[in-house]
Amino acid sequence: DTESGPAASPRIIALANQKGGVGKTTTAINLAAALATSGLKVLLVDMDPQGNASTGLGVGYDARRSGTYAMLEDGARAAAVVQPSAVPGLSLIAADTELAGAELELVMADRREYRLHDALAQIGADYDAILIDCPPSLGLLTLNALVAAQSVIVPLQCEFFALEGISQLVRTVNSVRQSLNPALKLDGIVLTMYDRRNNLSELVADDARSFFGDRVMETLIPRNIRISEAQSHGQPVMNYDHRSSGSLAYQALATEVVDRLGLHAVRKGKAS
Ligand code: ADP
Ligand code: MG
Repeated sequence: DTESGPAASPRIIALANQKGGVGKTTTAINLAAALATSGLKVLLVDMDPQGNASTGLGVGYDARRSGTYAMLEDGARAAAVVQPSAVPGLSLIAADTELAGAELELVMADRREYRLHDALAQIGADYDAILIDCPPSLGLLTLNALVAAQSVIVPLQCEFFALEGISQLVRTVNSVRQSLNPALKLDGIVLTMYDRRNNLSELVADDARSFFGDRVMETLIPRNIRISEAQSHGQPVMNYDHRSSGSLAYQALATEVVDRLGLHAVRKGKAS
């Protein structure tokens, strides 16, 4: 942080919503893959002990080596726990099996809210963007993500009660900004599992727009079976079926995110 100005630091984006099943992990994987394919060097950090982002990028439970937990324990290990993915330009820090205990163990740690921030400071300069997939809670793991990030993107599932609990998330983001991380911005709401044949989807979209205004992304992520199939094959949807509606939507979302957040390649040359 001290030696590099804002232009050189990577944009760290947390995908957060304390509700489960809203599309955080799906958005983390597919947005990360689309950003990497557009030429940015991207790192995805799996902060959810369930490890769905790791599985969705082909790193199954049995293949979990040292990952997020090892890095939170000792930030100096950050570079060592990064692994490549099948997508050129996209690297992963997987959820290791010990991550399940981290929420409790971190309570006793020094700088407990800054563990992820401090670790990513070791390797941030290697990436143009770092995406963090948060667990479905507002506990210490999500707090670490919000302290490390400059940007929060909130996936909202177009379902009943989509906005329930959202004011608590907004309060948490505001209080992190006022105390631990003044740089934090709630940059976007992504409407997921949108079904244009269902009026409910349009109602949720209207509600979200009246609550969040133009922070709601224009790109709508449709409900598309190829998206979940891709995940069960350990692939981003653009690798699994690049012409599917889900793949096109996540590519459009990547373009919109690049635009809105002003993401750009800070490193010279294309990622390997
Ligand atoms: P979260 O990380 O918020 O818990 P997930 O991203 O894991 O949510 O999504 C929950 C489930 O919904 C997963 O099985 C995923 O494959 C599926 N899913 C997510 N987005 C879509 C979509 N646009 N179309 C179809 N299925 C989806
Ligand atoms: Mg998830």
